[in-house]
This record gives sequence, C-alpha cells and structure tokens, in this order.
Amino acid sequence: MHTGWESSPGPRPRVTPARVCYLEALAMPSDTPTNLYDLTRPALGALLSDWGFRPHHRDLLWTGLYRQQARALDEVEGLRPDLRDTLRERTRLSHLSTHHEAFSSDGHTHKLLLRLEDGQTIETVLMRFKGRATVCISTQAGCAMGCVFCATGQMGLSRHLTPGEIVGQILHVRRILRETGESLRNVVLMGMGEPLHNYDNTLAAVDVLVDPLGLAMGPRFITLSTVGVVPGIRRLADEDRPVQLAVSLHGATDAERAALVPAGRRWPLDELMDACRYYIARRKRRIFFEWTLIAGRNDTSEHAHTLGALLGGMDAHVNVIPLNPTVGYDGDPSQPASVRAFQDVLMSHGVPSTVRQRRGIDIDAGCGQLKSTVERRSRRSLPTSP
Ligand code: SAH
Ligand code: SF4
Repeated sequence: MHTGWESSPGPRPRVTPARVCYLEALAMPSDTPTNLYDLTRPALGALLSDWGFRPHHRDLLWTGLYRQQARALDEVEGLRPDLRDTLRERTRLSHLSTHHEAFSSDGHTHKLLLRLEDGQTIETVLMRFKGRATVCISTQAGCAMGCVFCATGQMGLSRHLTPGEIVGQILHVRRILRETGESLRNVVLMGMGEPLHNYDNTLAAVDVLVDPLGLAMGPRFITLSTVGVVPGIRRLADEDRPVQLAVSLHGATDAERAALVPAGRRWPLDELMDACRYYIARRKRRIFFEWTLIAGRNDTSEHAHTLGALLGGMDAHVNVIPLNPTVGYDGDPSQPASVRAFQDVLMSHGVPSTVRQRRGIDIDAGCGQLKSTVERRSRRSLPTSP
C-alpha cells in the first residue's frame, strides 16, 4: 500500500522501467514436501483422504493451524500419532521470517521485509489505528506490470507467491498483534505484485483467510487491488470471490494511462470499463478506483472532468493517493489544494472520492520502497572488488 514518502528522496535518477512480461512466471521450484499452508481446507481433505484419514482429522489439523496458530505439528492438539508421523514425512510447515523492519515515528505503521524460503524478500505493512489493524500484503515477489512510478514495478518480477506465502504474511502479523491483544480487521492486497497475474494462488489464499473454521476473516474486509487485468476481473465477476475489488486507473484516456501504466496498452480503457461494468452488474458490488495523483501529470481539473465522465453513473468510488516519490521516477505529489479541487470536480460528476491517508511517512512505506532502500544500502555496504 502506498502510504508514505521515502525518508530521503535525494536525487532521483531515472531507471529504465521494468520490461513488461505477461508470461506466466514460475512458482517457486520445489521438490520439497508440500507446505501445509499452501492448501485450502478441501485440498487438505483430499490429501488426507488419499492417505485413508477421515474428514474430522482434516478439521482438527485445520483448527490447530489457523485457530490455535500452532507453529509445529507437535503443537496441534489431539492429532492421531500415525497422522502426525505421515504429515512429518510428507509435508512441511513453512514460516516467513523478518529480514528487516521499520516503525513510523507515530508508532502506527510497522513495515516488514519478510524473507521467503528461497531467500526472496517481500513487503508487508501493518497499520494499527484506534485498536483496529489493517495489513497490506504482497502477492508476488516484484511485479511484471512496470507502472513507472511504482518501486515494485521498477524491480520487475521475480516470481509468484504461493498461497502459503500469501497466508504466511497474515499469520506473521497476527503473531505480532497477539502480543498486544489487538486483532486484525482489514486485509488489503495492495503490497508488492499484481494479484490477478497470480490469480489461482491469490484466490486460494483468500479462501484460507475467510474459511469459517480457521481465520474466519470477513470477506467485506478483504480488498484486492488490480492494475486492470481484464480476464481476471471477468473471472472474479463470474466466480463471486469473497473480496472487495479496487482497480488502479491513474489515467482516463488510453494515451495518458499507458504512459504511467504500461498494462493499459494490453487492456485498453474500453475493455477495462466493460469488464468493470460487468463486475458491478454481476456482483451488485461497487468498485473502488485508485488514482495516484502526480503534480501536473494527472491532477488538473481537465483530468478530473475526464475521469468524472468515465465513471459518472457507475457504482464507483475513487481513492486518490498523492504520489509517494520513488527513486526511479521523477514526479512530485499533488499539492493539497489540487487534491481538493480534483475531488470537487469528481463530485460535480456524482463520483465520491476519499484521499488515502499517508502513514509511515518516515519509513519507506510505499510498496517496494523499503525493499529497494534495503537493497541499495546492502549494495553500498558490499566490499568492492579489487
Ligand atoms: N498491483 C496492484 C496492487 C498493488 S499497487 C495495483 O496496481 O493495483 C497498490 C496501489 O498503489 C496501486 O493503485 C498503485 O498504482 C499505487 N501505487 C504504486 N506506487 C505508488 C507510489 N509510488 N505512490 C502512490 N501510489 C502508488
Ligand atoms: Fe505492479 Fe501495482 Fe506496482 Fe503497477 S502499481 S507495478 S501493477 S505493484
């Protein structure tokens, strides 16, 4: 989630935007035993029934993993010894570890760089406010979509996350929250990566999050943000998956959008808006549209009128996010007066909007920013070759 400024923007050299590659990236190659966190409850049931165990063993294991939050099989109460042995032989429980963390000075934002089993790192941001916590999680290590202002887009894609790695971020922050007795309410899939480019793994993870026997998160409190992957939006509409949908626009004409969001060339606005209207009609659910406001680029009254005309009459709500400057993009956030004027014009078209609060101003809290900062620092501290 893009909730803060870089701590020291400094000079911002331009970098070549990441090459846009829509080919399926490989999931982590793995000849290791199945990670139990990768499985939905039906998939776990199928596995156990192949081994000859009845469904209630599945539910016992499931509640142990997600209700009790056992970290090891030994901690799951009531498991039959032969099942425990089989699980030990054929499966594993993979946990994420903290590679680096930062706290905002107001104490509300806790940004984590988490390490995966193969050494990749991903960002997860925990925001605690008035007893309600929100977590922003990643769905890919990097991103292939190449949005020019986004630190993650500037890195390119390393790989998709598995369902277990997506769920693992939630388990990790729940453990942190448990220490203070706080609970997690909202999950936003707005960290690193494009969730609909990793559709199956992302939605399997959502199924685990909402499972009533486990974490039992409310579907209304899970928001999935997409850059506008049209086939994914249509699939979501047809499958009725338990999420709120947010679509990142940033431009309301094809030319302006494609200059910021290269994926706009692949899925032009008429196709994208058709898919959004289809989604709203099928699901009878509003869509949130995200608009990163960049001074002079997409924040004038003309831009607001074009956006208002595009969304007018739709069940839409716009989230405006003043740009978080990134090292690889030479743009500035809009001034507060331009933000207000932009919202007023939208309102004149009957389109409501909210400015997203910027939290973690001092800790690189925009997605991909902490990872790039940590990597730049560690490159600087590496010994140079003779
Ligand atoms: N890939 C998805 C979700 C992750 S990005 C998507 O693009 O929607 C979440 C949101 O943060 C998107 O709206 C994205 O455009 C926005 N964003 C990315 N980098 C930003 C930055 N530097 N400043 C402000 N918003 C940014
Ligand atoms: Fe990927 Fe979203 Fe960043 Fe675009 S804004 S590069 S889609 S993470």
